This record gives sequence, C-alpha cells and structure tokens, in this order.
Amino acid sequence: MTTTAEFIALDEHWSTHNYHPLPVVITDGEGAWVTGADGRRYLDFLSAYSALNFGHRHPDLVAAAVEQLGRVTLTSRAFHHDQLGLFCAELAELTGTELVLPMNSGAEAVESALKVARKWAYEVKGIPDGRAEIVVAGSNFHGRTTTIVSFSTDETARAHFGPFTPGFVVVKYGDAAALRDAITERTAAVLLEPVQGEAGVIVPPEGYLAEARRLCDEHDVLLIADEIQSGLARTGPLLALDHEGVRADLYTLGKALGGGIVPLSAVTGRRDVLGVLKPGEHGSTFGGNPLACAVGRAVLRLLRTGEFQERSARLGAHLHARLSELVGHGLAEVRGRGLWAGVDITPGGLSGRETSEALAAKGLLCKETHGNTLRLAPPLMISEADLDRGIDAVAEVVRR
Ligand SMILES: *Cc1c(COP(=O)(O)O)cnc(C)c1O
Repeated sequence: MTTTAEFIALDEHWSTHNYHPLPVVITDGEGAWVTGADGRRYLDFLSAYSALNFGHRHPDLVAAAVEQLGRVTLTSRAFHHDQLGLFCAELAELTGTELVLPMNSGAEAVESALKVARKWAYEVKGIPDGRAEIVVAGSNFHGRTTTIVSFSTDETARAHFGPFTPGFVVVKYGDAAALRDAITERTAAVLLEPVQGEAGVIVPPEGYLAEARRLCDEHDVLLIADEIQSGLARTGPLLALDHEGVRADLYTLGKALGGGIVPLSAVTGRRDVLGVLKPGEHGSTFGGNPLACAVGRAVLRLLRTGEFQERSARLGAHLHARLSELVGHGLAEVRGRGLWAGVDITPGGLSGRETSEALAAKGLLCKETHGNTLRLAPPLMISEADLDRGIDAVAEVVRR
C-alpha cells in the first residue's frame, strides 16, 4: 500500500511545484467530507475555492455525468449537439441574461469577457482601434493567463512573466471616487469581483457596486462582474451583485458551474455585447462540450430549487455569528457574506499557514490566502452539525 508520505514524495518529484499543498492526500470524497490516504476523514471547509458548492459527488450531478458519459462527451463546436442550446438557455433564464458564451476555466471566461469588451468598444462604442482601456481593481484575482496577470497587483503572480498586455488601469477596490476618476472616453469596461475572494473575502463598502453601475451607465462603459467564486449561491443569492440589486452587462461564471466534476465556465450577459463575436473570431475546442453542458444543466437544476441559496444565507448567518464571537479572542477581523468568510488571525499568534496545518491535524481542511488570513468556504449542502464541528475546530485552534 502506498502511504501518505509516498504519495507526497511522488507528487513533489514529478508535479511542477507551483502550489504548496497541505500534507493531506485525498483519495475519496462525499458531501462535505473527504478521506485521506491515511484512512482519516476530513471536513472540507475549502470546497475547492467554491467549485464544490454542492459538495463532493452530489448524486444528481454524478447521475447527470454518468448519463451523458453513456451518450456522447465531445463533438467540438464544428457540429451542434443536443445539450448546448439547452444549457445556454437555462443559464440565461436563471441569471436573467440574454446570450451565453461557454468556456472551460475561469481564466478563459475572463479572457473572453475582456476580448468581447474590447471588440464592443471598437465596433459599437466607437473607441479608436487599439486604444481601449479596461479599469480593474487592486488586489484583484481573475486568473493566471499572461493578459490577466498583466493587471494583477500581486507581485508573486507577475514577476518575470512580462512583457505584459497593455490597456488596463488599476484603481483601489471599494473606492468609488477613484473609479470615477479613472473612467475616460477610452474606457471600454470596468471589471470587478463583487466580493474579492483571493484577496481575503473582501466585501466592498455599501453602495460601491451600485455607484460602479451608475458610473458605467453615465459613460457608456460595460460593467463586467467576475462572479466565478462569489456567484452560484456562495454568498446567499444566486449572484453576489444581487445583494445590491445591481446588474452587470457581462458576468463571468465558473468553478461551481461544473459541479466539481468538469471544468465549465461561461460569460453571460447582453446580447448586443456578446453578439459582437462572429464565427472564427473566438472559441475553444472543449468549450460547451456535451458532458460539461449536461453537468452544468444539472447544476442549474439544483440552483433553480433555491435550496442552496437559502442554506447559504441561513447557515452563513450562523457561521458569521459564531466567528464574530472570536473577534478579540484570536481573530482580529471576520469578513464575508453567506457561507463564505475571510478571517484575520490576530498578529503574534499562529501564521495562516500554521493555522491551516493545525486545523488539518484536527480534521478540518481550509487554506490561508495571504499571511494571516484564512478563507472558510464549506460546501453549501453541509449540515448544521458539521458546520458547527468545523467552527469548533477553528475556535480551538485560534482562541487566545
Ligand atoms: C478562481 C477564479 C478565477 C480563475 O478561475 P480558474 O478556473 O482557476 O482559471 C477567476 N476569477 C475569480 C474571481 C476566481 O475566483
């Protein structure tokens, strides 16, 4: 039998060292729980950064995947298939949008939205070709492609990957005045995360997103909401922008859209904006494949019930109430919405890394983001008892 240490040694020798995982080797998962190669059970409070909003191997999602595996998995977009139109129609219906561009990874969805925004700016808004700018927020996370890291403010994500793609203007997140000052006649779009996930679950000041919407309307600028992590019920409502009653022109979705089974992302939004793409101008071999669409449709069926939105809001309120009791007792700050929290550990205690290691030793899996910040994102199907079990572990480790 291969041991945990042997699996880790293999991994460390043969897989590129672009991550620094906790020393846990997962072999099985069900619901909110995973099993390690050591036979231990762990409660998953990371949910693959919200890709597992419905937990591991949700039976409806597995059934949809198995059913589709028995029919057809890939056609390429050279032909039509019977799942694509249905998936796009159902996603548009649920999100209240008009046209869908399916892709695979989140970064691809963001790249696609940026390309579409530029093309719209030249062909519809009338910005001189090659001059469009896109305004983004500091401490953003939108993925790892060369263009996307061009406007990252995280030096680790950028260093030695240049030369970078020009045409981006970075402003402070949450600062509406800075956003206003950055918009010019060359601005094509404003790209924002309604809640910044990687940055540590940062919720912007009330009114910021509504003001961003107003500024975009005033200047004929597209508002692109990157809801890849915040969307699909993670913060309670279907989309995090719904908290503010704000609509984006384009949304990027990913992570949970593939149900934790397949990579599936999409740009969804206005027909007159996504409609600028014509055959041959953009695409992806695997984007919108039958297997991904079938799983995506099953995800949309789960979301249509409203059960996960309700659970996220209700259990999220419980999570935040309990975590806020730890402020001043090991935690410096707790942020977030729904079943999603960023907690800052009081300086002088364990580091974020040491805390996640201590939690793993107690059977709770989560991950630090930066320095002393932990992100907690249990699957939305978690039971209240398991949620409390996880919070108890956090309290035991951080309480001082
Ligand atoms: C994870 C994430 C991405 C990138 O998604 P990948 O599937 O890893 O490429 C983009 N934007 C946000 C907000 C994310 O959380």
